[in-house]
Order: sequence, then structure tokens, then C-alpha cells
Amino acid sequence: MNQPMVDAFFEKAPVAFAVFRTVFYDSGHAVDAELLTANLPFQVLFRKKADEMIGHCVRELVSSAALSQDEWGRRALSAIEGRRLFDEVVSGLFPEKSLRVKLFPLFDDQFGCILRDLGTEALLRDEVEGFLAVSLDMFMIGSQDGRFLKVNRQFETVIGYTVKEMEGHYFSDFLHPDDVELTKIALGSLIKDGGIQKLVNRLVAKNGQIKTLEWRALPTESVFYASARDISDQVNKEAQLRKEAEIDPLTGLFNRHYLYQRIQQEISLSEKRGTPVSMIAVDIDHFKYVNDIWGHPVGDEVLERTASLMKAAIRGTDFLARIGGEEFVALLPGTDAEGALTVARKMHRSLNDHPHPRVGKVTASFGVALRDIGEDFLQWYKRADEAVYAAKRGGRNRVVLAGETTPETQSVSIYMAWNPEWDSKDPTIDAQHRELIDIGNHLVFLAVSGAVAHQISRQIDRLLVHVANHFATEESILSETAYPELPTHQMIHKDLLRRTGELAADYLRQPTPSPIFLSFMINDLIIGHLVDEDRKFFPFLPRSVQ
Ligand code: GH3
Ligand code: MG
Ligand code: MG
Repeated sequence: MNQPMVDAFFEKAPVAFAVFRTVFYDSGHAVDAELLTANLPFQVLFRKKADEMIGHCVRELVSSAALSQDEWGRRALSAIEGRRLFDEVVSGLFPEKSLRVKLFPLFDDQFGCILRDLGTEALLRDEVEGFLAVSLDMFMIGSQDGRFLKVNRQFETVIGYTVKEMEGHYFSDFLHPDDVELTKIALGSLIKDGGIQKLVNRLVAKNGQIKTLEWRALPTESVFYASARDISDQVNKEAQLRKEAEIDPLTGLFNRHYLYQRIQQEISLSEKRGTPVSMIAVDIDHFKYVNDIWGHPVGDEVLERTASLMKAAIRGTDFLARIGGEEFVALLPGTDAEGALTVARKMHRSLNDHPHPRVGKVTASFGVALRDIGEDFLQWYKRADEAVYAAKRGGRNRVVLAGETTPETQSVSIYMAWNPEWDSKDPTIDAQHRELIDIGNHLVFLAVSGAVAHQISRQIDRLLVHVANHFATEESILSETAYPELPTHQMIHKDLLRRTGELAADYLRQPTPSPIFLSFMINDLIIGHLVDEDRKFFPFLPRSVQ
């Protein structure tokens, strides 16, 4: 470079340059510096022409207050004296301006000076820092290759990772795996579209929780700014509400509302594709009887259990909905009448094969209907429901295809069945226990089939006589076997007999029969007595094989 070029460079560079000569005391310490030359930006900064400044010392150019602030002037002199580089940000040299001052030794006692006005830039940076720190939203600066360059503390609060653990790392390290692709695509279009108005994705917090965030982003030439808001609570609440609107809380099956919606979709799909769609309507048999005898909570439990047995019989593409108290509808897309009959038979068999541990066998009547072309939901459902009623008329616990009149399965009793665990292996006791169950079942049948009072009263008399006789027989057998709990057992017998007599008398006095007597008879007198009390003496019986 020749001299004019050097001069031009010095003059035109957009940074303030100057050259000074050190002023020493006799003792050899630097005390000041005299300006030798200054370029145009330097003159602009000081608002003085070069010839007004050249030959003057620094102490004449700036106030001593400005020089003594933070003692930077002293440090600068010491650097000059030691011919070291000085590089500091100095505020207060000019009001409201931050200057970066660089001093560097040239030759002899001369040194160069570069001043860079950080003024607004630095000020803004501080303000942004403050703003980020107090913001309730998450803010970050990201790189175009998908890394967090800077995140504010709000990120720590929401996702549990520290600022340090995030800055410099890729977003994808924190994203829910299912949202990586979506986020990549959004990043790709960020620059092209000049920003992202709304992106929702999920991050995995440090404690493993899933956080749903809503983002907005704006690109600059090299980075982008983004803010995010934690909308997890809102999203979870919405999902919960949606679920509540669709799901029956007792059985976990779909509800009637969902079925109506869904059925319209399935009808359209079936028409578009030309595939069949079938329905199975289900109604539990004598469910009122379950409630009356065992109580409503047990009834609820039976509903739950029946629902899960039926659900296990259908495929993942089928739906099962509870549309009323003990009424259900299964929807089978892509299934013809034969296929639907197979599914209904499977449900029917499953209910028969899995008796409830207390209530015993709970069965249902099934009506199967293939949707006819052009049929709407109500017409179609009506045919399925009519088939259910045909099944009920035919004796319940069976499957009927809509339009068919002959019920195809045989009726199975829903009453108390002998449980092999009740076998004492004493033939007299076992025979009497079986008869007890038989009499009980007969009574239940009379009660639920609306028999007249004198029929019921005759059966209750039979029960009382049988129970008294059975207790006496059982006690005499037990005294021969020296059963140690015999006195307690006798007391239980006495109490049961007394309560049976009282409740039976009450029952017969009521104008409308109350279920209390039937419930007591089954729960306490028959099952409770067999299961809880009598089984205790089984091991003491001589013929016992237990
Ligand atoms: P059928 O064989 O003719 O269907 O006889 P049913 O007793 O099952 O029929 P009905 O429709 O007369 O009785 C249904 C009963 O279901 C009456 C109602 O008290 C009971 N129920 C309805 N919803 C619930 C429920 O959520 N929980 C319980 N435990 N019982 C319910
Ligand atoms: Mg019903
Ligand atoms: Mg019913």
C-alpha cells in the first residue's frame, strides 16, 4: 500500500481512529497523551475538527470526571506505559454512550486508538436481557440448523433443563420423537415464509413429562427469534373433555353420543367403498333382578364386567358403545351378517363361560342386523332392537338375526349354580345344601316372574322348614366330629333362622314385595352361610379329602 491509500483508509474507515503520543513525567510515568492525528469518524464523535484537537492533550479534550470514572483512565495510562494493549468498554466518556476503547502501542512513545460506539447496541442488549429475564413466556434465539443459541430462564421453569443444558444443543434432543419431523418442516419453511405464526409441538421435560408448547418465530438473516407458551394444561383439559364427551365413565366404552356421530361416518364409508356394515344390539337379561337382589353397586360391577367381556370379543376396528342402562350396541364395519353373527355368538358364549363370582351367570339377548342399502341409522337400529326382543320372547340368552324368527340358542338359567368349592364331601350335608340352593332359586323365580302371594308364601314355608331341619342335621354331624367351633356355629344358625323368619314375615306383609328378603336369603342365608361359615368345618369331616 502506498501512502495515499493508507491515508484514505485511515480517513474513510467507519471506525474512529486516532494516534497519540504519550506524555511522561520526569519520573518516567505516563501522565497524559497528546493527539497527533484523528480521522473523520473520530472528529464526528468528539464534535470537533481535527485542527481544533491536534496538539492537545486528552485531559483538555475530555473532562477529568469522565476520565476518572471506574478509574479506566488510570488503567489506560498504565497500559500505555507498559506498552500493553488496552481494551475496555467505557461508559460516561460521552453522555449516554458506551465506547469500546482500544489502545495499542505503535512505535517509540506513540500509540493508536480505536473507539467504537456501542451506545444503543449495548444499551439494547442490556434491555433485551432484562426483558427476557422477567418475561413469563419462553424466549429463545435459534440457529437455522436447529439449535438453541440463547434461551431465557422461563425454559428452565417449564421443561426443567437448565439454560446451560439447552444452549448450543439441538431442539430435536428435547422434542417428543413424534414431533421431530413436523418441527423440521416448520424450521425449513421459517425463512421461506418469513416467520411462523403458530406451531404446536411437544417437548419432553427433564422429569419425563410431556409439555405441549405453542411457538411463534421470526427469522433474521442468520438466526431466528422465537417465543413459546406452555399450553399443556389447556391441551390436557381439552383432551379430557373430549374423552368425557365420548366415553361412558362406568364401562369405559363409547357412549350413545359418540355412537351417533360415528355411525354416520361408518354409513358414508360403507356406501363409498361398497362394503357391508353390521350392528349388534345387546340387552342384559333380567338385569333389574341383579340390582334388586345384589344391590346397585354390584349391578354396576356386573355392567362393567359384562362390557369388558363383550369388548374382548370384538376386533380393534369394531366399536362397542353403551347406549343405555344395560343396553349396548356393537358396530362392525366391513362385516356382513354371517360375520356379525359369529361375533355375537362369541360374546354370548363368553358371558356364559364367565359367570360372575357372586351373582353367577349374567346373560344377554343379542340382535344382529346387516345394514340394508339406503337405510338410515334409526331404521337399521330398530331392526336390530326388534331382533333383541325376539330373543327375549324366545327365552333370552340367545342371538337372533334381524328378520329371522327362530331363536337359535337354548336358554340357560341365570340363577344360583352349585359351586364345586361348596362340596363338603359329606353326602347328607351336600344334598341338603343343594336343596337349599334349589329352593332359593325357585323363590327367586317366583318373585321375578310376578307369582301370586300364596305361591310365594308356600315356597317360603318350604325354605324355613328346610333350613331348620338342615341346621339341626348339620349340628348333629358336627358334634360327632368334635368340631371345636360348634358352639359359635350353633349361634350363627340360631341367628340366621331367627332373621329368616322375621324377614320372611315382613316380606309377606308388604303390598309390593321388597327385595330385602331375597337379598338376605341369597347373600346371608345361602351363599354367606355356605361360603363363609360351613367351609370352616369341611376339614374336620371324616370323609373330607381336603
Ligand atoms: P330384560 O331381560 O327384559 O331386559 O329385563 P331387565 O330387567 O334387564 O330389563 P329392564 O329394562 O326392565 O331393567 C333394566 C334395569 O337396569 C333397570 C335399571 O334399574 C337398571 N339400570 C339401568 N342403568 C343402570 C346402572 O347404571 N347401574 C345399575 N346398577 N343398574 C342400572
Ligand atoms: Mg333393557
Ligand atoms: Mg335387560
